[in-house]
Amino acid sequence: MKTAKRFFCLEGIDGSGKTTQLDMLAAALEAEGYTVVKFREPGGAKISERIRELLLDPSFKGIMSDKAELLLYNAARAQVIKEVIQPALDAGKIVIADRFAWSTFAYQGYARGLGPEMVQRLTEMTCGDCFPELTVVMDISVERSRARTSKRGEAPDRLEQEKADFFERVRQGYLAAARDYPDCVAAINADRSAEEIQKELLALVKARLA
Ligand code: ADP
Repeated sequence: MKTAKRFFCLEGIDGSGKTTQLDMLAAALEAEGYTVVKFREPGGAKISERIRELLLDPSFKGIMSDKAELLLYNAARAQVIKEVIQPALDAGKIVIADRFAWSTFAYQGYARGLGPEMVQRLTEMTCGDCFPELTVVMDISVERSRARTSKRGEAPDRLEQEKADFFERVRQGYLAAARDYPDCVAAINADRSAEEIQKELLALVKARLA
């Protein structure tokens, strides 16, 4: 898989701490003089945010087909690549994504059972060479992540309404990615203090910037 320099991604199930770590990482890199562009998937551009609304709408539970879901994620991604990611990378900026193509691999390929081949073919078409040089998977048990998100008090979206065994398959999908693609995917223990996790994450990213 061809990857784009200075393009990083954080992955993991909800409540694994992606957003927390992404904000800390962006602040640490900006303090060192880098310009950082960050966004969350699906989203990051106007069209992609509209597609996000469709994807997360709880009223489509049991209605949206697995393939429609797969294609919508890729459509949102194609747009944010063209509008945000590629221009930022061309300008020498660092791009950090809160979720990207490995989410599709883990959720649609692994947990929904569409299989890695279909996801990979589509990912190649959607991303081309615009693929993160390093993705860090925040690994945590479903139970621990749920304990964190339940404190948020928000109504769960369509994906969040899935049962624990679905998220267990997602977790296994992420771990398989880290095992099979060690050059561009690293899994780290996310069941630690935010400071400890950040230290390891920052070291992994800086090793790629050196
Ligand atoms: P995600 O973006 O993966 O869903 P968040 O960063 O939003 O995860 O974190 C989910 C919740 O867990 C938030 O309430 C956050 O404050 C809390 N949290 C994040 N990191 C940690 C950590 N290392 N230890 C304990 N709680 C955490």
